[in-house]
Formats: sequence, C-alpha cells, structure tokens
Amino acid sequence: MHYESSLEFARAQDAADPLRSYRDQFLFPSQGTNEVVYFAGHSLGLQPKTVRAAVGLELDEWAKYGVEKHFHSTNPWYSYHELLTPPMAEIVGAKESEVVCMNSLTTNIHLLFVSFYRPTKTRYKIISEAKMFPSDRYVLETQAQFHGFDPDDAIIEVAPRDGENSIREEDILAVIEANADEAALVFFGGANYFTGQLFNILRLTEAAHAVGAIAGFDLAHAAGNVPLSLHEWGVDFAAWCSYKYLNSSPGNIGAIFVHERHGRNFELPRLGGWWGHNKSTRFQMKNGFQPMEGAEGWQVSCVPILGMAAMKASLDVFAEAGMSALREKSEKLTGYLEYTVDRLVNEFPDAEISVITPRDPDQRGCQISIVIAGRERKLFDDMVSAGVIADFREPCVIRMAPVPLYNSFEDVFTFGAVMRDLLAVGRKGV
Ligand SMILES: *Cc1c(COP(=O)(O)O)cnc(C)c1O
Repeated sequence: MHYESSLEFARAQDAADPLRSYRDQFLFPSQGTNEVVYFAGHSLGLQPKTVRAAVGLELDEWAKYGVEKHFHSTNPWYSYHELLTPPMAEIVGAKESEVVCMNSLTTNIHLLFVSFYRPTKTRYKIISEAKMFPSDRYVLETQAQFHGFDPDDAIIEVAPRDGENSIREEDILAVIEANADEAALVFFGGANYFTGQLFNILRLTEAAHAVGAIAGFDLAHAAGNVPLSLHEWGVDFAAWCSYKYLNSSPGNIGAIFVHERHGRNFELPRLGGWWGHNKSTRFQMKNGFQPMEGAEGWQVSCVPILGMAAMKASLDVFAEAGMSALREKSEKLTGYLEYTVDRLVNEFPDAEISVITPRDPDQRGCQISIVIAGRERKLFDDMVSAGVIADFREPCVIRMAPVPLYNSFEDVFTFGAVMRDLLAVGRKGV
C-alpha cells in the first residue's frame, strides 16, 4: 500500500475506513481536555461504551431479586457463560463445543496441562519460545517440577539467531524434529508479547503431531488480533485472556479451546469441579465426577456475572465487526505505523531506532515494537506526557498496538508528529 506522511492523507484513509464508526463505541482516556492516542490495546483494551449498562443491568437485578435471578433474569446467571461461547468461538475459529469462557489465563493453562502435558520417562520435553511471557514460563517450569523433571532439562527454548529478533520457523521445526522421540508438548504463544511475532499455528501443530507430540498455544496476543482457525488447524488446546485485544475489562476471565477429538475423551485426566460436571445431574449433588462433553468439561467453578456482562458487551462488538474486516484494516494501519517509524529512523539516525517486529505482515498482528537505543527511557515518558499511550520494556523498547477497532490513521500520524518533535529536541548536539 502507498503511504504519505501528512494529516490529509491520514484523514482521507479514516474517511474511507468502513470500520471507522467503531471508534465512537469506545471510551478514550484523556489528558486535560484532549483524548490520548491509545496504543496500549495489547495490555488493556479500551472500554466499550455499552459495558456500563450491561454491568448495571446485572447489578440492578441482583439488588432487586437476589438468588431468584440465577434462573429468571434477563440473561439467567446459571447459564450466562453459554452466551459468550458463540462469539468467542467465532473469534478463534472453533466449534462452539470446543470453547468455554472461565477463570484466568494462567490458571487455565495449568488446568489444561493436567490433561495435555502427560510426560513419561522418555517423552517429557516441552518445546517453546525463548523470552515467552513470564507467567507462561513459570507454568512450564513448575509443571515440569510437578512431574519430577528438572526444568532446564525438560524445557527446550527456541531463540532468535544471533543478531536477529524473530524466531525462524525453520529453526522451530528443526528443534521439534531433533527431539522427535522426547517431545511431549509444543507450547507457543500465538503472537509473542514482546516482539509481536506471529507464529504459524498450523505449521507448528502439524510438526508437533508428526512426531507424536501435543500442540498447545497461549493466544493472549492473538485472540481478537488476527483471524484464527483453531478447529481446522487441528490445535489440541489453547487458552487466552480477554482483557487485551478483547476489551473485556481489567483482569476479566479468559477462555479455553479443546479440540473436539479430546472433548469426547473422558479418559483424559482432569481436575474436576461442579461446573464441569454433567449439567443434567449437577444439582443432584452426588459423588462421582462425570465431566461434560466438550470444553465445558474443563470448567471448575461458577463464573463471575459482572465480568461476563462486560465481556458479552465487548464480544458483541467483535461479532458485528468480524475478524476478517478487522484484519484487513489492521494490516493497513500497522503498515502505516511501520512506515511512520521508518521515516523517524531515517530522519534521526542518532536515536538508533529499529523495528524488532517482523516486517512480513503475515508474521505479525497489530503490534509494532521498536528499540530506541540512542535514547533513554525519558523519551518514552515524554511521549506519554505528550498524549501517546504505549508500553515500555527494558532496554528502551516501546511496544505499540494500533488496534483496528478503535485506532485511526490520524492516531498514527499524531504519534509520528509527537515523536518528531521529541526526537528533534533530544538530537545530539542540539
Ligand atoms: C497477558 C498475558 C498473561 C497474563 O496471565 P493472567 O493469568 O491473565 O494474569 C499470560 N500470558 C501471556 C502470554 C500474556 O500475554
């Protein structure tokens, strides 16, 4: 696509954007009287305007009717989670029986490992990405230890080659191949939180299966960001949170995917709770755990209604916009941010700016991470003070997400203008 660095160009793109009206459905933080440029949807998505009324409805019904509303409210609490399943299944490309919303992400990965990481003396290795999100790494370490293995021996990390930022797919496939007899599980992020690198989930799944290993994914940075086809790709299991690209409120419940071929396998070990027990006999309160068929059979506890109300309001927006339209805009918008950064790279060589997110649009979602090696953290702080909200990680990495649902081309232009001013002031010798 052809890009230009001008406000007119950015505004013309926004005027032609078929998704432009969605921006008005979100609440933007402001500094003084100005709305900020919000590029932190990779950490916490913005609040849809419909959330307040959706949560308010449940608060009102709880106040007025108490326990009665478990079965008789507008959206009965007892089965509320079932309302979330169709839109969530659509977002990740799954059958409805393969998805359920429950718990938080790290908890869900542990629960899924009970069923899907079943190491033996010889086949016990977990192949994963280097520098994964710390919570996931801690899951791998403690799961390995729980099963009596030394994490340093059990976990094999695939890292970028020296001087590179992304992990080469050929290197991942080679490691899987090299550990064909010992690999129990291939566990990757869908997209890496730090670099934004998007992995080819289908190819990693096929490679895992080819050596007799299970393929699991943490989709925290992929769900709601890029189209997924978990069922068709044959992924064994996945988990993700809903408060990043899915805008469902801070710390809200996550969701899991279990492929239907496992959902019917009642021989799989699992940790039971009443919510995963056969619905038709749940209230007989008898001994003997009988898991439900499908992903719902991994539920443990009843689910928080206020959080689910916020999530439903948010998923309704996705159901309307659709992942393929979002992806189409996302590629253009992320490309515009990349173009804008590249102009800064050329204009301010002393700032030593470099993009660490893959340049290939097929290997990234709506995230651009940049290193500003020639500047200090103060540059980021100044950028925030000037009204551009993003995320900072040592050493001087700025992670930005231009989110297609609510970000605009003008946002990207504004970011470029803000950075140009800040970099000009900080230019060496000025
Ligand atoms: C955000 C994130 C988490 C957070 O886990 P919680 O259990 O929701 O606190 C875990 N893993 C990844 C990859 C993430 O991006």
